[in-house]
Amino acid sequence: MPEKTFDLIVIGGGPGGYVAAIRAAQLGLSTACVDENEQLGGTCLRVGCIPSKALLESSEKLHEARHALAVHGVQVGDVSFSLAVMMERKRKIVEQLSGGVKQLFKSNGVTRLQGRGKLIGPGQVQVDGPEATQEISATRILLATGSAPAPLAGVELDGDRIGASAEALRYDEVPRRLVVIGAGYIGLEMGSVWNRLGSEVIVLEALDRILPGMDAELARLAHRIFEKQGLRFHLGARVKSARVDGQTCRVEVEGGEPIECDRVLLAIGRVPVTKKLGLEDAGVETDDRGHIVVDDAFRTTAADVYAIGDCIRGPKLAHKASHEGLACVENIVGGRGHVNYDAIPGVVYTHPEIASVGKTEEQLKDAGVTYNKGMFPFAASGRAMSLGDTEGRVKVLADKETDRLLGVHILGPRAGDLIAEAGAAIEFGASAEDLGHVCHAHPTLAESLGEAALGALGMAVHMANRKR
Ligand code: NAD
Repeated sequence: MPEKTFDLIVIGGGPGGYVAAIRAAQLGLSTACVDENEQLGGTCLRVGCIPSKALLESSEKLHEARHALAVHGVQVGDVSFSLAVMMERKRKIVEQLSGGVKQLFKSNGVTRLQGRGKLIGPGQVQVDGPEATQEISATRILLATGSAPAPLAGVELDGDRIGASAEALRYDEVPRRLVVIGAGYIGLEMGSVWNRLGSEVIVLEALDRILPGMDAELARLAHRIFEKQGLRFHLGARVKSARVDGQTCRVEVEGGEPIECDRVLLAIGRVPVTKKLGLEDAGVETDDRGHIVVDDAFRTTAADVYAIGDCIRGPKLAHKASHEGLACVENIVGGRGHVNYDAIPGVVYTHPEIASVGKTEEQLKDAGVTYNKGMFPFAASGRAMSLGDTEGRVKVLADKETDRLLGVHILGPRAGDLIAEAGAAIEFGASAEDLGHVCHAHPTLAESLGEAALGALGMAVHMANRKR
């Protein structure tokens, strides 16, 4: 007989699982959350979004002190840094946030169980903990098991010098030369960190562009900016192998010279974690890429088993997982949980940042949708000029017939914060005219959004309008 029974067991304590568990408890369900790690928060909090942002900020401060203060008349002389202090600051932030989740579990009455969860029968979960194994049961089970770095044939990960993002967040010294495989979110963020700290960073990308999936025009612009910052890109590069070779690592690329380096970061995407969960026996189907198959209410093919986040289809983003978690448990108690997949922003925290919500021009063209386009460069923004941060632009795409906003793409300072307004506008079904009529404080970066929206109507004030 199971030792404990609940209304809901959530397997996975990342931003999908822990948020779902808290909301479920708030909605009156007796809830347990199972996670094998001692620290709650999943990949995002422990070895992903949060620690990478800590290092991005620290390394950007170093860059500013070295290269961006003199123009303000601030003279700092020789600037040095301590990697150990940066790493310790990162560790403390993670510890504090993870402790916060633990506290939230306590205050909301979520039972936290440490161990690896596995389905062993209808409503039954086995938890293999660090010290003991226990069986628990619940009316419903929610799988929020996340994702892991995608492997690449020929790349021999050793958990140290040839590793993925988790390793790249804890190098104990600055690599002289770092090879990054994949010019996506992780490659560009971690490549930026180590480039700023002094590594020679070579990014190998299989496609003929960086950041596939993001707006192509802004990605091209970003590519040029990153090259000016010192990142070296090899596009169309197919990696054959990467292995430790004595004191160095050796990376072989099809049709190219082998590259010797100190470390290799593999960042070619992530794959869902669905193995050893007892899914097959429980009747939980996965698709050909290993994602758990769910319907619109996040129900899997097994009765009373649900799934959300990186282990199901869709972008592998923390906030997408959280929103699915909230919607899923709200549906379970008879509410109207809903996720608008057209209004999920994506942000790359490089400098400048790249942020996007809704459809790209490429997607609209492919779908045969006609649209108006408005652009506003940060070089024309008084606020961006005062910040000394004028690279990039805002792009607004609106339906040609109805003027409804379809997509907003920003390359520029604080793009990750600016995109929130565009997300809200798309969520509320706003038009470009609506966004253009929002009264933005002056001088702010957000004014650029209003100007780009007016630009889509041929009515921008602070720049020449395109012929429509
Ligand atoms: P990604 O999908 O963002 O980028 C992977 C890149 O690798 C792509 O450009 C792809 O073309 C390239 N690639 C694929 N196979 C290759 C090969 N054999 N050789 C060379 N290049 C190859 O994946 P990621 O950067 O690993 O990030 C994983 C996930 O984590 C993403 O889905 C992302 O959403 C998420 N993430 C988000 C953030 C954020 O929100 N800021 C930060 C980090 C990671």
